[in-house]
Amino acid sequence: MEFAEIYSFFNTTADKLEACWDIRILSNIANQRVPDFILSGRGSLLRADIHILWTQWFIESICDPEKFADSTQSYGHILVAVQKTVPIIFSGVSEEERKTLTKYISRLIDKEVQRRSPRKRSFISLEDKKLLWDIYGPEPRCWICGYEFTKWAENKFLGYGSDTEPPQHHFIDYMTLHGLSQRDISVEVDHAIPFSKGGKEEDNLRLACGWCNSHKSDRISIYDVAIKPRIVEHPKLGKQSVPHPFWIVRLLSVRRRCEFEDGCDKTVDNAQLTVVHKHPEGAMNPTNLRVICSEHDPIGSTRLVSRKVAEQMRQ
Ligand SMILES: [Zn+2]
Ligand SMILES: [Zn+2]
Repeated sequence: MEFAEIYSFFNTTADKLEACWDIRILSNIANQRVPDFILSGRGSLLRADIHILWTQWFIESICDPEKFADSTQSYGHILVAVQKTVPIIFSGVSEEERKTLTKYISRLIDKEVQRRSPRKRSFISLEDKKLLWDIYGPEPRCWICGYEFTKWAENKFLGYGSDTEPPQHHFIDYMTLHGLSQRDISVEVDHAIPFSKGGKEEDNLRLACGWCNSHKSDRISIYDVAIKPRIVEHPKLGKQSVPHPFWIVRLLSVRRRCEFEDGCDKTVDNAQLTVVHKHPEGAMNPTNLRVICSEHDPIGSTRLVSRKVAEQMRQ
């Protein structure tokens, strides 16, 4: 840890947060290098997310995917809409280059439209589901959090014995509330790379639990989920902040292993993982989260609350 670097950063940036509406101060802040220590070892995640988000915003400023989600309009309509704006935005490029850009941008917008409209996703046949189950079997886990699917979930996914009652988790992790709803513990097919048009590449499909899958596809913007952690009333711990599920899923899917400081061999391939705070007194924002297995979980059974309490926390 470099004291001088951190102190100077606090002085020039943290101290000036209230003035971030002033363009001169803003450019000063923009020119500061954020010390790695402050990025809590997640620097590449932060930078990659910002690059992805701003690129996405740029693409969507050309053609709004929301106008095509859940509509009957097809790829052709997107292409026409993009064709209108591309010459205005990229005025300095040749006709040929414009065509290339139009096709490329239309394809990206179409992918986003697919992502936002579940009914437009290509249907996954029972045969494909069985195939996937075999690939990931014999006891498949959620690829994101490592949750081991129950027999009930397997049967439901593969279309057998839908008359059995879903298992009820009597104790629920208060930070995630995973297991509260039936969807949470169901098997779903997750598209690793958001869907190429009409394609059905097996490599692109993975099994996820409903909890991870729903929060993964929830995403509108990383900025929307960064502002405030939620506050719940824990029966033993009192007022606790809990992280936005998006960040839990984001971290789990990127790390996929227990981050216990002395090392641990638990990964989502052999255990269910969750997150815990680095500093218990701090807010549960993305810089204060680490992925943990049950063995190294510092809060242990305190994490689990009864179903009834979890229900109240959801509200
Ligand atoms: Zn999961
Ligand atoms: Zn561990």
